[in-house]
Amino acid sequence: MSQYDVAVIGSGPGGYVAAIRCAQLGMKTAIIEKYNTLGGTCLNVGCIPSKALLDSSHHYEEAIKHFADHGIEIPGEVKINFKKMIERKGSVVEQTTKGIEFLMSKNKIDVYTGMGSFKDATHIEIKGDKTETIEAKNTIIATGSKPSTLPFITLDKERVITSTEALKLSEIPKHMVVIGGGVIGLELGQVYRRLGAEVSVIEYMDRIIPTMDSAQSKELAKAMKKQGVKFFLSHKVSNVSRNGDEVTVTATDKKDKEVTFTGDYCLVSVGRKPYTDGLGLDNAGVKVTERGQIDVNDQLQTNVSNIYAIGDVIKGAMLAHKASEEGTLVAEILAGQKPHINYNLIPGVVYTWPEVASVGKTEEQLKEAKIEYKSGQFPMRALGRSRASGDTEGFVKILSDKTTDEVLGVHMVGARCADLIAEAVTAMEFRASAEDIARMSHAHPTYAEAVKEAALAATDDRALHI
Ligand code: FAD
Ligand code: NAD
Repeated sequence: MSQYDVAVIGSGPGGYVAAIRCAQLGMKTAIIEKYNTLGGTCLNVGCIPSKALLDSSHHYEEAIKHFADHGIEIPGEVKINFKKMIERKGSVVEQTTKGIEFLMSKNKIDVYTGMGSFKDATHIEIKGDKTETIEAKNTIIATGSKPSTLPFITLDKERVITSTEALKLSEIPKHMVVIGGGVIGLELGQVYRRLGAEVSVIEYMDRIIPTMDSAQSKELAKAMKKQGVKFFLSHKVSNVSRNGDEVTVTATDKKDKEVTFTGDYCLVSVGRKPYTDGLGLDNAGVKVTERGQIDVNDQLQTNVSNIYAIGDVIKGAMLAHKASEEGTLVAEILAGQKPHINYNLIPGVVYTWPEVASVGKTEEQLKEAKIEYKSGQFPMRALGRSRASGDTEGFVKILSDKTTDEVLGVHMVGARCADLIAEAVTAMEFRASAEDIARMSHAHPTYAEAVKEAALAATDDRALHI
C-alpha cells in the first residue's frame, strides 16, 4: 500500500494548490480526483469556461454595437458561429487543465483518478478503473460544491439547467429565464443576452448581487437593463414546469400577484452547496454542520486532528482564490509554520461588463456595525481613459474610518475593475489610509486614476476631476 504524508481529495483550486504547496514543503503528496481532468469546478465548469464565453460574447457585442463608434465598419453581417465559440471554450479549458497535470508531475505529486472515500482516518479507498487504498498521515478534503436547487424544481439538465449545462449548450436560447440574480445568473445571463437571447432574471431579494454594496447592485442593474436584460426583483419562484421545448416559471411578486415566464431554457442559479457525497466521512468520524459544510476550526482542522478541509466544502465565500489561500494555509500549518488568512480581504468580482469588484466592508455592513465612516466616490465617466475607450459606466467608492481614515471597503463598477481591485487589497493589507492612496502616483491615463480620485474624495472631498 502506498503511504503519503498528505493526501488531498479533490483537485480544484483548493486541492491542487494545497498539493503543490505540500510538495514544495517536502511532503510526499497524493491528489485524488474523481473526474478524468484535474482543476475541479473552477477550471472545468466554472471560472475559466465562463470567462471564455464572457470574453467571446463581449467581442461579438463590441463588433455589432461599438466598432462603428470607433470608425470601424464591417462590410456585411457579423455572424456568430456558436459551435466554434463553445469549442474554443473547450480548448481553453483543456489547455488549463493540462497545465495542472504538468504542475502535478513537476512537483512529483502522485495523481489518483477515482472516487476517494475514507475507510478510516488514515486510509482512503480510491475507486477508479481499479480499486486501491492508500495510507495518509494527513488528509485535506477539498471536494468543493455542486449547484443548489429549489425543492420543487426538477433539473432535467436539458431545458431546466445549471451553470454546467449553460456552458455547453448546442444552441443560443430564444428566451432564457434565469432564477437568481447572483454572480452566475448575471455572468451567464449577460453571455446569452449579448448573443441575442431574451434574458429575464428573477431574483428573490429587492436587488441583484445582494451581498455586494447596494450602489453596485444599482449601477450594474442600470447597465444590464440598457443591454436589454429584464429584471424581476422581489419575486419568489414557486414552480417550474416543462412542456416539450418550453419551460414555464411561475413566481409571485411583492404584491403577491402570480407572474409566469415562458422560455426555452431556465437557468437555475440560486447558489451552490458543499459536496461530500460518497466521501465516507462517517468512517473517519468527520463532522459536518447543519448546512452540510465540513466543520473546521480556525486552523481549518476538522474534529479529527489529522484531517483538514478547505474551499467550497467549508464555511465562507465560495471563491477559487479563497480556496487556494486555504490550501496554502493548511500545507504551511502541516509544515509547522504559522500562516494567516485575512478573510476580510478576499475580493469578490463579477465578470460582467462593466465589471464589479469589492473588498472589505460594504456601506450596509458599516452601518449595521455602527462604525462611523467617510465615503468618497468617483465616476468612471470623468476619466480620460474611459472616454478614450468608450467605457464610461461605473464608479469607484472608497469607505474609510471617520476618525483614523483607514480604508475599510472599496467597491467598484467599471472597465477592468476585476484587476483594479488588487490595488485596494494591497492598500488594505497594509492598513493604508484613504490619504495614503490619494498621495500615490497613478499612471495617466488609466482606469486606476479613479481609485486615486475616490481616495481624494474620501480624504477631504477633494477629488480633482469632478
Ligand atoms: P472544486 O473546484 O469544486 O473542486 C472539487 C473537486 O473535488 C472536483 O473536481 C470534484 O470532482 C472533486 N471531488 C469531489 N468529491 C470527490 C471524491 N470523493 N473523490 C475524488 N474527487 C472528488 N470563483 C472565482 O473565484 N472566480 C470566478 O470567476 C468563478 N466563476 C465561477 C463560475 C461558475 C459557473 C461556477 C459554477 C463557479 C465559479 N466560481 C468562481 C467558484 C469556484 O469555481 C469555486 O469557488 C472553486 O472551484 C472552489 O474550489 P474547491 O477547490 O473548493 O472545489
Ligand atoms: P449566488 O449566491 O451568487 O446568487 C444566488 C442568487 O439567487 C441570490 O441573489 C439569491 O438571492 C437568489 N435566490 C435564492 N433563492 C432564490 C429563489 N427561490 N428565487 C429567486 N432568487 C433566489 O449564487 P450563484 O450565482 O448560484 O453562484 C454560486 C457560487 O459560485 C457563488 O457563491 C459565487 O461565489 C460562486 N461564483 C463566483 C463567480 C465569480 O467569482 N465571478 C462566478 C460564478 C459563481
